[in-house]
Amino acid sequence: MADSETQREAVLDALDNVAERLAEEKEYLTDLDSAIGDADHGANMERGFGKAAEKREEFAEMEPNEVVKNVGTTLISNVGGASGPLYGGSIMFASQEFEDGITAETSVAFAEAYLDKVKDRGGAQVGAKTMVDALVPAVHTYKKSVEQDDLPPLEALAKAVDAAERGVAFTVPIKAMKGRASFLDWRSVGHQDPGATSTLFILEELLETAEEYLDGEVDRDARAEDAVGRDE
Ligand code: ADP
Ligand code: MG
Repeated sequence: MADSETQREAVLDALDNVAERLAEEKEYLTDLDSAIGDADHGANMERGFGKAAEKREEFAEMEPNEVVKNVGTTLISNVGGASGPLYGGSIMFASQEFEDGITAETSVAFAEAYLDKVKDRGGAQVGAKTMVDALVPAVHTYKKSVEQDDLPPLEALAKAVDAAERGVAFTVPIKAMKGRASFLDWRSVGHQDPGATSTLFILEELLETAEEYLDGEVDRDARAEDAVGRDE
């Protein structure tokens, strides 16, 4: 596995890619949240990850797990609402899995710890129309691909991103049971969940960064791309 310096660079680049992507998607996420929420998800995500990315210099001397932990705390202090503590608290909690470095094995542990914390804090199960609907299939697919199918981490991650994309599509026809959107009851049906969507965008950027550092390119499943194609 790469040395700690390379791992830190990879984490910092992932952070930049995520921050840039969420800034690009701000309007789209805002539109999704205006349909079933309060139209702040785009701004929340842009602000939170933007603030974290601005700390690149401050993070430059830290161990990779410390950088991840600090991204979490930065999100907690800069993003209000439901998504700040969910994203920030879970990243912070899961960062301890990287104490001995970032490997295929510890990345599975990170993913599982992250998912557990989101479910624990938010109390949402699959089918409640939240970020959990993207996360559960992604984390389960990643774990199975690495541990049982012995796939290289990059291929496992690509499969996880495809699974998340199907999860995002699944949020459209179901009724929100948690968060602000649940206040709408049946009127939430037919709309895509903003938090599941931002989760997918983050995973896509992690894959993009991993392709760079693990020196490979992987095919995404085209059918999944079609499932939640965006109108440009
Ligand atoms: P707020 O709902 O406070 O305005 P955001 O708009 O930033 O916060 O985030 C909304 C997203 O947060 C939702 O689309 C959903 O995915 C996620 N979310 C809300 N409540 C929960 C919960 N209890 N568990 C998991 N995710 C949740
Ligand atoms: Mg909102």
